[in-house]
Amino acid sequence: MKLHPLRAHWLSGLLFLGLIVFLLLNSGCSRQLPSQYFRLLSFGTLVELEVIGVDERRAREAYETLQQDFTFMHHTWHAWKPGPLGRVNEAIAEGRTIAAPPSVLPLLKVSQKLAAKSDYLFDPGIGKLIELWGFHKDNLQPHAPPPAEKIAAILAQHPSIRDVHLDGFHLACDNPTVKLDFGAIGKGYGIDRAIERLKEMGITDAIVNAGGDLRAIGSRDGNPWRIAIRDPDGGGIFALLSVSGDEAVFTSGNYERNFTWEGKFYHHIIDPRTGYPAEGTASVTVLHPDATTADAAATALFIAGPKNWYRIARQMGVKFVLLIDTQGEVYMNPAMQKRVELQKPVAEIHISKPL
Ligand code: ADP
Ligand code: MG
Repeated sequence: MKLHPLRAHWLSGLLFLGLIVFLLLNSGCSRQLPSQYFRLLSFGTLVELEVIGVDERRAREAYETLQQDFTFMHHTWHAWKPGPLGRVNEAIAEGRTIAAPPSVLPLLKVSQKLAAKSDYLFDPGIGKLIELWGFHKDNLQPHAPPPAEKIAAILAQHPSIRDVHLDGFHLACDNPTVKLDFGAIGKGYGIDRAIERLKEMGITDAIVNAGGDLRAIGSRDGNPWRIAIRDPDGGGIFALLSVSGDEAVFTSGNYERNFTWEGKFYHHIIDPRTGYPAEGTASVTVLHPDATTADAAATALFIAGPKNWYRIARQMGVKFVLLIDTQGEVYMNPAMQKRVELQKPVAEIHISKPL
């Protein structure tokens, strides 16, 4: 069909206008993709979810799915309340062999691997020590530290996650002093599952943030996600970081759970070699592609401290570390130094060899 020249002109004009509108809308979109923000409570902390570029219905669907998942995980991995992990701990204490619950098995296996790589500084088998210190309680009150003899009695039995033996689904433990407590890795493992779930749902740009421990995928409307690292001394912002693509940022700090008794400060990260809160470190931040490793490594490096963090980081395959000691001095590897923007003057910065 041949168009009348005038009509053709009119049509091409309309097409051009359409193109402009399309471009405008599109460029508007790329500058301002919808961002949806949700909050829920899990793992004893506020979990924040932000998703970019999906409509409200899909975002809400994602939020509801994560809410169910987190409730399930919290119940499954609670070391102190009835539930799958509680049953495992009962069986270990009684010396019984059991069929490991499928909901606990993968977390147990990955924990054993990471514990071995950390030289058992990260060791979820020391639940009895955590319990003795009272750090498992929901509302932690100042109290006298446990008597030295009680700590020594547990240490004499060398409880460790390495005492748990798996043969297919059969779980046996030859040390009844072992009590599994996944407090140092469960949040990381949970966030990894949450991110996997979001990816399954076709979401490509999102952040799951549990009290400053997080994993982010994609970008925030073309810009990296900006992450603040808390100052262990006073609680302001110590440093800023940019994260994009797919990366987790986890911090273990002595400010998270602690109490002071007769002028002495006690915090919740226990050195399995001494049975006492690890000394020398105020906080450790780890960046890693998966949150499970980042979480376990942050705890392990906290205990390793300024002298040994580098060796343990290498063993655990971690490539970005920032450690702040109890004097306020900073230790990091060169790659981490390139990425952090310190927000306050620091007395001394120690840069290690590359990791
Ligand atoms: P947060 O929970 O503040 O992010 P962590 O990831 O370091 O901090 O986890 C600390 C928790 O892990 C403690 O509350 C305790 O339940 C448990 N825990 C303490 N010391 C160890 C350890 N050496 N190995 C494994 N788990 C530990
Ligand atoms: Mg941890």
